[in-house]
Amino acid sequence: MDNLQLLAELHLDGERQGPGGDGLTRQALALSGLAGHSGLKIADIGCGTGASTLVLARDLEAEILAIDFLPSFLDALNTRAAQAGLGGRIRTLAASMENLPLQPETLDAIWSEGAIYNIGFERGLREWRRYLKVGGVIAVSELTWLSAQRPAEIDAFWRAEYAEVDTAAGKLAVLERNGYSPLGYFALPESSWLDAYYRPLQARFAAFLAAHQGSAQAQAVVDEHVREIELYERYRAYFSYGFYIARKLPQA
Ligand code: SAH
Repeated sequence: MDNLQLLAELHLDGERQGPGGDGLTRQALALSGLAGHSGLKIADIGCGTGASTLVLARDLEAEILAIDFLPSFLDALNTRAAQAGLGGRIRTLAASMENLPLQPETLDAIWSEGAIYNIGFERGLREWRRYLKVGGVIAVSELTWLSAQRPAEIDAFWRAEYAEVDTAAGKLAVLERNGYSPLGYFALPESSWLDAYYRPLQARFAAFLAAHQGSAQAQAVVDEHVREIELYERYRAYFSYGFYIARKLPQA
């Protein structure tokens, strides 16, 4: 079994695959100005099992294309959508965010929670921009330093994991130099990491290890998560996810 398969299995039963919360998706929605419009076309990129997709479908008059490269996550999303009576508003698409089969200038909004880091913040903003109508909105959450200074251990850890980690000021500057006008930013609270993501994840470790008894690879997957959680608990004052909401400007 390769690592991605193990990761997918560990995360499949999660309500979400990263920090976040329905109330936080709604907070970003309020900043987006999308509510009250009808016939919206939205892509949720790196949707996982659909935590944000379901909120968007419930709150907006929209057709939502939920995109992820893991078909097992999309199956779970479809089941959840059907159970919530929201299946009619959601279509799923198994595709890579690096090569999206979308038409130019067709989307009113791109949503992406805890996923754009897979392609890189700036590359994602640059490449996905073409799919948005002028005036369309992008809303993404992204690893963010909460202050200019931080302890060396956490600085080294996140720089090694994700070279683009930066402050909100840095991220907003990236938006501005790539043809977007920021509409808002907020930092995700601790509850979005601990209560909504890490605690439910920790609760799945034992069953996951039991299902892969004696697998060093499965143990390594759990160990990596344990280390990440320990670092979050120790250094949570210094980093979080930032939610960035911005509008596509016409070409200068
Ligand atoms: N938005 C969800 C999932 C976040 S985890 C939530 O907030 O709960 C990141 C997601 O990105 C995972 O579902 C993973 O399968 C997906 N992903 C990672 N690399 C990808 C790629 N290259 N193309 C498409 N999806 C990708």
